[in-house]
Amino acid sequence: MEKISIIVSCYNEEQALPLFYKEIEKVKNQDFQDIDFEYIFVNDGSSDKTLEIMKELSSKDDKVKYISFSKNFGKESAMYAGLEAATGDYVTLMDADLQDPPSLLRQMYDTIKNEGYDCVGTRRVTRKGEPPIRSFFARIFYKLINKMSKVEMVDGARDYRLMTKQMKDAIISMKEYNRYSKGLFSFVGFNTKWIEYENVERVAGETKWSFWKLFKYAIEGITAFSTVPLVLASAIGLIFCLISFLLIIVIIIRTLVLGDPTSGWPSLVCIIFMVSGIQLFSIGIIGQYLAKTYLEVKKRPIYIIKEKNF
Ligand code: UDP
Ligand code: MG
Repeated sequence: MEKISIIVSCYNEEQALPLFYKEIEKVKNQDFQDIDFEYIFVNDGSSDKTLEIMKELSSKDDKVKYISFSKNFGKESAMYAGLEAATGDYVTLMDADLQDPPSLLRQMYDTIKNEGYDCVGTRRVTRKGEPPIRSFFARIFYKLINKMSKVEMVDGARDYRLMTKQMKDAIISMKEYNRYSKGLFSFVGFNTKWIEYENVERVAGETKWSFWKLFKYAIEGITAFSTVPLVLASAIGLIFCLISFLLIIVIIIRTLVLGDPTSGWPSLVCIIFMVSGIQLFSIGIIGQYLAKTYLEVKKRPIYIIKEKNF
């Protein structure tokens, strides 16, 4: 019998997790009698009763495996740990808050089975229930990153996807520390089909992503999958050199023709401000990449496990 590994990263999901388990079991009993399931719950350093709930579920159901981190490492690390632990022929990544409808799973499985895809991803076509400002910046981010990166990032794509073991192995072979999964999924290639669905709101609990956290995640995505910002710095530098060269010629000619009227101090100050601003900005961009490289060469572990049941 084939097996699907269901990886669920959980950070303070004591309210949502029991509901999630109930729902996914329902789907298992209805649509997946011919297939084995394996649940891998990853507790990402929750401070509430999430781990207790995982332990309770695993004592009742031997399909349930859990991994508990020594602190909060972030969703990317949790997904990676889950992928490494998965033993199924197919692997899916889901959120604990039921924003990734388990009812789509059968359709996803059939698509891989019958249509020869390696992966079926899901895409939200609406962002209903999300703060408008968040949707606005999300849209800008996807426009930007798709211009800057060769790796295609699909707007509204969720981490919720079903993939073959082969694709999963390709993803865990990338052991980088700064993980931006949306990019990694796309980077490994394979044939992905997208299923669209309307946004579903969280069943219980609260979102763990503040605006600031999302902003940092966006920067992560850009630095991990594009070096265009670095090129930008040199391009601006080059343009400024050209402009100043032209200005020098203009000033020399003007001085020769009109003499030397001492004027232009305010404009000079403005120019100094602007150019030094651009220099600092460019150094900042280089610094971003340097910082990422620094973290990468240290080869720190992506996650640290405190306990697990397998
Ligand atoms: N999550 C996690 N570690 C974190 C933040 C979030 O494992 O540091 C999990 C969280 O428990 C949930 C999933 O990632 O299962 C998605 O988080 P959330 O629903 O808060 O994000 P949103 O759906 O609002 O983008
Ligand atoms: Mg959510």
